[in-house]
Amino acid sequence: MRYVDEFRDRVKADVLVKEIERLLAHMGRDQDRPLQIMEVCGGHTHTIFRYGVEGMLPKSIELVHGPGCPVCVLPMGRVDDCVAIAERAEVIFTTFGDAMRVPGSRKSLLQAKADGCDVRMVYSPMDALALARKNPTREVVFFGIGFETTMPSTALTVLQAEREGIKNFSIFCNHITIVPTIKAILDSPDLRLDGFLGPGHVSMVIGDAPYEFIARYYKKPMVIAGFEPLDILQSLWMLLKQIDEGRCEIENQYARVAPAGGNAVALQAVAQVYELREFFEWRGLGSIDHSGVKVREAYAGFDAERRFAVPNARIADPSSCQCGEVLKGVIKPWQCKVFGRACTPETPLGALMVSSEGACAAYYQYGGIKRGRDEAKASAA
Ligand code: SF4
Repeated sequence: MRYVDEFRDRVKADVLVKEIERLLAHMGRDQDRPLQIMEVCGGHTHTIFRYGVEGMLPKSIELVHGPGCPVCVLPMGRVDDCVAIAERAEVIFTTFGDAMRVPGSRKSLLQAKADGCDVRMVYSPMDALALARKNPTREVVFFGIGFETTMPSTALTVLQAEREGIKNFSIFCNHITIVPTIKAILDSPDLRLDGFLGPGHVSMVIGDAPYEFIARYYKKPMVIAGFEPLDILQSLWMLLKQIDEGRCEIENQYARVAPAGGNAVALQAVAQVYELREFFEWRGLGSIDHSGVKVREAYAGFDAERRFAVPNARIADPSSCQCGEVLKGVIKPWQCKVFGRACTPETPLGALMVSSEGACAAYYQYGGIKRGRDEAKASAA
């Protein structure tokens, strides 16, 4: 397929859904014992809701929306750290748009901007570096956020800044890594997953080898999936075929973009600039060993955490937030006590309502409120 419309072809989608139904029936799955598949990536969650993929599937398969949206898993304390840096008079704090609205314990970056802080939205870390060139008397800080997908662009920007000898540029590094996170999910006693849709964009950088342990040690299959509706359906079909045939492998449906060996240039830049943190705190998931990276000593001059001594406070989410349970797939977004009431995209209490890739925002935006109420009524009847 060459054009985007072909990846959204309804006739082909119906054929795949029929095939998925057939496999589920062959496995003896029904709605009382649904197969549980986690889509790790927030981009998949967005596609699933936007194109109504979940609504096309039989009730004997359940999609669990995983922790693959980096904005959604950012803990409140790190937002507070961002605000603390942005409040310094000498700082121009730069960030992607989604991150501006994530609530901190005092305020979001957007509120900090409204209060007079110099917070600017950029489209790439290179835009932030350009600001540093233009404003040599100010300190330009870029909020480095995201999985392995965005990690290389921040690393390459640090290397560029070093080459140019730019001294007023640094990154507040909150990059996270997917593999320890999947391991933490697999170790969680709350979950009983049957397989994974693997993150396509992350896999474009890291390839498929880092996931091998999932099949080998946890005996769960994974299919690395693309982001169009037919990608999702075909990947689900591939997963079900594996389960039905008693196989357990890492397969790649997204080979047109994600090469098996990953991207060597990107991986090299990442290895050069970052090292693993011993622990990193995730919203709703707690601390996960080796799940985040920090700037290496050799590039300490570009590390905002060293330059500005951030408070690094650990702040618990408000007690009404159930983001952690949604992230682990223990409850659906509409089952959160505040979903669609106190927590909406306009007034998000939790991060899953902020980013368009967050399960709660996607559910809210694409008719999930009505569906949630219908499902609640049906289960109460
Ligand atoms: S509705 Fe709001 S508080 Fe509840 S899980 Fe979703 S984002 Fe978190």
